Amino acid sequence: MKKISLVVPCYNEQEVIEIFYKEIMNVKEDFKNVNFEIIFVNDGSIDNTLDLMRKLSKNDGVRYISFSRNFGKEAAMYAGLEAATGDYVAIMDADLQEPPALLKEMYDILETGEYDSVATRRVTRKGEPVIRSFFARLYYRIINKISKTEFVDGARDFRLMSRQMVDAVLEVKEYNRFSKGIFSWVGFKTKWLEYENIERAAGETKWSFWKLFLYSIDSFVAFSTIPLSIASVMGILFCIIAFILIIVVIIRTLMFGDPTSGWPSTVCIMFFIGGVQLLCLGIMGQYLSKTYLEVKKRPIYIVAETEKDKKEKI
Ligand code: UDP
Ligand code: MG
Repeated sequence: MKKISLVVPCYNEQEVIEIFYKEIMNVKEDFKNVNFEIIFVNDGSIDNTLDLMRKLSKNDGVRYISFSRNFGKEAAMYAGLEAATGDYVAIMDADLQEPPALLKEMYDILETGEYDSVATRRVTRKGEPVIRSFFARLYYRIINKISKTEFVDGARDFRLMSRQMVDAVLEVKEYNRFSKGIFSWVGFKTKWLEYENIERAAGETKWSFWKLFLYSIDSFVAFSTIPLSIASVMGILFCIIAFILIIVVIIRTLMFGDPTSGWPSTVCIMFFIGGVQLLCLGIMGQYLSKTYLEVKKRPIYIVAETEKDKKEKI
């Protein structure tokens, strides 16, 4: 009998976690001869999420991993993938923004053996603030220009993967994780399913604009080194401009004499060059800081409790 593991990262999801479980139980009816394993990952929630997980874990096939604090969704996904024992593993948000009904279709596609993973992308961004959609689009345009790894606009983390692919993803042990990139980087054949954006069943999004912005910087640093060449390119460009200007100034002085003027423009140029230098230093700083975190080799997450601990206590 085949087994599907569902990895569900949860951060303050008390409003939706039970609805989610019910929905999965409904979907399960469509499957014949398939076992389900649900792994809830509590990413340091400060509401009742953990209690609800403990309660749900009394049901067959429900497990949970509870972190010692909030480590972020990436860490939660990694922990879930590590714990999953299924032949197929899916990652799903707890808020039902990703239709569980798609699971059957995904499973059927993988069963044909033609693909190693079935991923989803939403084709609309209905219900999302306009500014956020604008920056999201811009982000995908830039990252696809500067990175060799392909990033699909609107791709969700919701996907069903074969065991082989999950093992490959787990091999990528970097600390600064950006899963959308990692899934694409490991390769394998992926089929994309499209669906319209669905709003949260309940509760609120956990991603502020700022958090998303920092996350996007992570992805630039993790999947491209082109920003590092900006300093070299600008350096060469500015040297050429400076050289031309020097010649122009010398010739002008020799031919027309030198009325000293133009200090406002000098100040502007100083500011500009100063800004460019700081920008380049900042970019290098980003790479350095990520390298620093990587070499420290801290664990990606720390577990405080799992369903096994709970059983021992009882
Ligand atoms: N999440 C998490 N840790 C975090 C932030 C979010 O585990 O630090 C989970 C959250 O509980 C949800 C999923 O990641 O199951 C997606 O979050 P959310 O729905 O807030 O994001 P959105 O759908 O708005 O992009
Ligand atoms: Mg959501």
